[in-house]
Amino acid sequence: MYFLIDATSFYCSAEKVMRPDLRKKPVIALSNNDGAIVAVCPIAKRLGIKKFVPYFQVKDIVRKHGIVVTSSNYELYHSLSTKMMDTISQFADDIYIYSIDELFARFDTTLSHDSWTALGRDIRRTVWKEVRLPVGVGGGMTPTLSKAASHAAKHLRGYNGVAVIDNEQ
Ligand SMILES: [Mg+2]
Repeated sequence: MYFLIDATSFYCSAEKVMRPDLRKKPVIALSNNDGAIVAVCPIAKRLGIKKFVPYFQVKDIVRKHGIVVTSSNYELYHSLSTKMMDTISQFADDIYIYSIDELFARFDTTLSHDSWTALGRDIRRTVWKEVRLPVGVGGGMTPTLSKAASHAAKHLRGYNGVAVIDNEQ
């Protein structure tokens, strides 16, 4: 079984780790030169802010809603990424780091659908408890299926951050 685990709006979530007072506020993160938006937290998303848009185009919405704007802080992202990967690696037989906020975890055991889902929730809870980062978990028999499951985990109703594809239904 493979799990694809990735942090939600990683750069924004990382800022919220350092500043818990921002946790319930809309936050966006800007690119190196503050030119473009590279991360949007779910609260800011609901206000209509989109990723990869030039910052100047949303300045009015930012002002109107008091959206918190942060510059990229790659040292912070790197250190939280390492913590997140270390925490997850304790659960898995092997991990493959795919990007700064995303990894594939391999499990060599056989479990029921419900147990895989429970494991996914456990990993999610543990990463939150230890690193204060929200993550999504997708499970599947191949890395590709786990990536598809992770999309479901994040975007389809009722999954709450964990989805496992382990049968045809
Ligand atoms: Mg992510």
